[in-house]
Amino acid sequence: MKIRPRINRWTSARRNLINGSSIQSSLVQPHFVVEGDMVNEPILTMPGINRQSVDVLVKTIEKDMEMGITSHMLFPVLKQSDKDPIASKASNLSMPLQKAVKQLKRKFGDEIVVMTDVCLCTATDHGHCGLINESEVVNDLSIPELCRIALSHAECGADYISASDMMDGRVNAIRESLESEGYVNTGIMSYSVKYASAFYGPFRDAADSAPAFNDRSSYQMDTRSDYSEAILEAITDEKEGADIIMVKPAMIYLDVVREVSNSVMRPVAVYNVSGEYSMVLASKPSVEERKKMVCEILHAFKRAGADVIVSYHTREVINNKWLN
Ligand SMILES: [Zn+2]
Repeated sequence: MKIRPRINRWTSARRNLINGSSIQSSLVQPHFVVEGDMVNEPILTMPGINRQSVDVLVKTIEKDMEMGITSHMLFPVLKQSDKDPIASKASNLSMPLQKAVKQLKRKFGDEIVVMTDVCLCTATDHGHCGLINESEVVNDLSIPELCRIALSHAECGADYISASDMMDGRVNAIRESLESEGYVNTGIMSYSVKYASAFYGPFRDAADSAPAFNDRSSYQMDTRSDYSEAILEAITDEKEGADIIMVKPAMIYLDVVREVSNSVMRPVAVYNVSGEYSMVLASKPSVEERKKMVCEILHAFKRAGADVIVSYHTREVINNKWLN
């Protein structure tokens, strides 16, 4: 069992997610938040997952909570007209994601764990996870903006800031920003080991965040690299103050999950990514076959050492009691 002692305030929902011995308590449901009213737009490449405005999202999560899904991850999806080169809208407290976090924490308080994606790619018009100078992502320019976004989420009550950008040194910078503003109980889930994977395609449709030029291989990890880089990234983020260490994608990097889990003391999360989700659906399995496939995958995550599992399968698994 891995415990993060720094956070003073361990709500039962937080404890359940991190220390829960069951797969069910480890699951986190992702959501995509858009502007507007009554928006509930299916994502064609990810059947079963919708883009939702805050009003619909809160109702959806209310139903999820009744079913026993207590951990939720929110991704902002910005209109093209809200994007600019410096992601200036990403830290705006009146944006849908910030409003959603506020409403969810007001409604469910300590019963819910809200994780929020902190990155620039959904708010930059070029679609990169950092700020650009002469077509290059500049690590050190990007960090102050990431800190501003993290603070805006913390102010709204997010339980965990999920730093997904892969800039070096951002965990330390975000931790210091949070501490200096008094957000000592806001955790950081760091995407420490994030590969430049071909399995993110459907997500980029969902979040409308594909890069306009080049790819993300200058800051995400080489899919051919060995364990040493993964372990180094994980240990570095742990030392910088990350509370949860993420490996992404999950299914095709289970060996890495095991190595990382053996190397860090903090809980390890896996992101069962959109391409992996679509793969299960691609064979059009019967409900019974789908249940068996999904349960087999989730058990593999646990066996590899995952303490937290972010998966688009969460809702169907818990609503249908597939693990019982
Ligand atoms: Zn990004």
